[in-house]
Amino acid sequence: MSVKTIITEPNKILRQISKPVNIVGKDEQSLMDDMLETMYAADGIGLAAIQIGIPKRIIVMDISWTKGEKKPMYFVNPVIKNKDNDKSIYEEGCLSVPNQFAEIERPKNCEVEYLNYKGEKKLLKAEGLLATCIQHEMDHLEGILFIDYLSKLKKSMIIKKLLKNRPDRIVVWLMLKKIIFMGTPYFAVPILKSLYQNGYNISAVYTQPPQKSNRGQKINKSPIQGFSETLNIEFRTPSSLK
Ligand code: ZN
Repeated sequence: MSVKTIITEPNKILRQISKPVNIVGKDEQSLMDDMLETMYAADGIGLAAIQIGIPKRIIVMDISWTKGEKKPMYFVNPVIKNKDNDKSIYEEGCLSVPNQFAEIERPKNCEVEYLNYKGEKKLLKAEGLLATCIQHEMDHLEGILFIDYLSKLKKSMIIKKLLKNRPDRIVVWLMLKKIIFMGTPYFAVPILKSLYQNGYNISAVYTQPPQKSNRGQKINKSPIQGFSETLNIEFRTPSSLK
């Protein structure tokens, strides 16, 4: 398990629509472990995978741990089946919108169908804070933040504050420049990952075409190709990178 960097607004990664998960396997479980640890370390009660840069429809939550008892919840491919017409208002915050809070109105109760940590299909009837929290987290899967429900003026004031307070604000300017990334080996992956997670506009990735392995017929993709596929970054595999 490890604590990951949480991406903060403004960053276009947070605006991506996350993709459904096919199976809940070891990779997804270890992602959920990392997400939960990251959430606890940041004093949060919910986290969506896209907040650490992974566009998968996975959420972790624990609304009781701040009261002393850890009760982690895991939601893979959550779908809202039923929403209440009654609304309730909670003051919401978000780990991707640090230190900013606003009252948001949402349906009071909802029913959510999802896969749990073991990949079993479950149905949850949520009300109160739990219902608000799951709806907030599910918005992340659609690229929506709670500040999107505020007036334009309020939202832009919050974004201004976030930009002023962020330690890496120079990144905002660099984001205007497009990056073309060329690379193939394993050690190139962390560099591309870091550029991606910091919101750089990677317009194209060039990498070596898949190679036949020494033994047998197995075709191996380059590590950069594999990484680009996972994150849905466009890549090209010309026969020569020269
Ligand atoms: Zn959030």
